[in-house]
Amino acid sequence: MKDETCIFCKIANGEIPSKSIYEDEEFRVILDLGPATKGHALILPKNHYADLFELPEEIAEKVMVLAKKLGSRMVDKLHADGLNLVQNNGETAGQTVFHFHMHLIPRYKDDNQKIGWVPGKPGEEELEETQKQIIYE
Ligand code: 5GP
Ligand code: ZN
Repeated sequence: MKDETCIFCKIANGEIPSKSIYEDEEFRVILDLGPATKGHALILPKNHYADLFELPEEIAEKVMVLAKKLGSRMVDKLHADGLNLVQNNGETAGQTVFHFHMHLIPRYKDDNQKIGWVPGKPGEEELEETQKQIIYE
């Protein structure tokens, strides 16, 4: 299941060259061309899924296992001090390439990068209202 117009389909399937750091039947992991830090990598499924919501559960499970394996190796080999996993869904959430990918971002003391948000200050009522909206029973 590929999308002819999708650049990550072409990269994941080797039609466009990339700096690949891992490959198996279902995934390719590449270095990001605009890295937040040294080693910033992207886990790409070889099949086309636009985002997390389209991802089959068995692929989603494998993404997390790969993130754990490769992430800890990257931290070790690059002498990083930490690792962020980032995964954007939808334009509003910062997604710019609409082929699912998981960012692996090694973090270094004094790397001057920011991956975060401004914390809100919801009251008890607001938290309860939100809880009612999304509770999964
Ligand atoms: P998003 O904003 O969709 O979560 O992340 C897209 C990421 O893909 C960005 O970090 C961007 O630098 C990276 N990117 C975009 N085009 C290419 C490309 O052609 N090759 C590689 N290696 N990375 C890309
Ligand atoms: Zn694609």
